[in-house]
Amino acid sequence: MNTKTTLMKLPGLADVHVHLRVPGGEHKEDYRTGSAAALAGGFTTLMAMPNTNPAITTADGWQAAQRQAAKESLCDVALFMGVSMSSIDNLPELGKYAPALKLYMDLTFGDLRIEGMENLERIAELWPRDKVLALHAEGESVRTGLVLAEKFHRRMHFCHISRKDEIEWIAEAKGRGLPVTCEVTPHHLFLTDADAKHLGSLGDMRPRLASQNDVDALWSHINTTIDCVASDHAPHTLAEKQASQNSPPGVPGLESTLPLLLNAAAEERISYDRIVTLLSTNPRRIYSLPEQPDTWVEIDPDEIYEFPDHELYTKCSWSPFSGTPIKGRILRVVLRGKEVIRNGKVHDYDR
Ligand SMILES: [Zn+2]
Repeated sequence: MNTKTTLMKLPGLADVHVHLRVPGGEHKEDYRTGSAAALAGGFTTLMAMPNTNPAITTADGWQAAQRQAAKESLCDVALFMGVSMSSIDNLPELGKYAPALKLYMDLTFGDLRIEGMENLERIAELWPRDKVLALHAEGESVRTGLVLAEKFHRRMHFCHISRKDEIEWIAEAKGRGLPVTCEVTPHHLFLTDADAKHLGSLGDMRPRLASQNDVDALWSHINTTIDCVASDHAPHTLAEKQASQNSPPGVPGLESTLPLLLNAAAEERISYDRIVTLLSTNPRRIYSLPEQPDTWVEIDPDEIYEFPDHELYTKCSWSPFSGTPIKGRILRVVLRGKEVIRNGKVHDYDR
């Protein structure tokens, strides 16, 4: 391997949008399986979402989950705080704990959906200014989020932006100097609503897959407006996804994100430097994530294979990208000086 002149070294990557399903959904994923999937995909830092069961909206709930994450995870995991209609007044206190708040404006389940401009303004006002407020906002809600960012002069991060008009609104807001950032997902970069037809429920997530026109718009902003790529890893079991009724939205993504981007780099649709910016530099800066010394990912940019090249580590064990031809393989991940994965095998890990 050392004789290869093409070997490439990336810093440890950070995925700032994953669902690790703890507590309450451990049959879909847990900290151990989710973090093993992260390492297999080149990620050494994760930020996990609070829409668990119960949702994480209290200091006690957050601390218990964060303790468990630290104990069971194979990589670094930081947890978002969530907010429900009844916990808004507690935000200044909750801000002492979590590094960021996730606010659901659209299309979510359970009690995390916040409605009404008055409540949204209270949240934008009460969550500490030096911490990120991350939004699940789609369509017109993106515009509402931009109004809030402007009115309260606060940092706002837009999750999984997927439509042409949304990315153009954010570009315009950045042009006016608003302190906003955004992420896009690999499924919105590499799949369209045409794929949704043949994938069926395995291609169903929120936001839904979009038109080729939307996908093209995202790619045209990949070197400018888009700050991060985040997987929105949202595992459900195959049985749940294939149920005839109420199949839950969401797809896994931790193990496919970097291979898809490496392949895009091999096709010269994006540079390797930009991949590092989108998957490491920017997410670490936006969320003030701690540095990980002696941590890196080794890749062979020239190796060709069909994804996945190993049995997936995510507990749900399927991917909407199965069978995709990829050029660019993850060879090895070193975390704080210790090799944690080589050739698709996580060390000291029994399935
Ligand atoms: Zn999500």
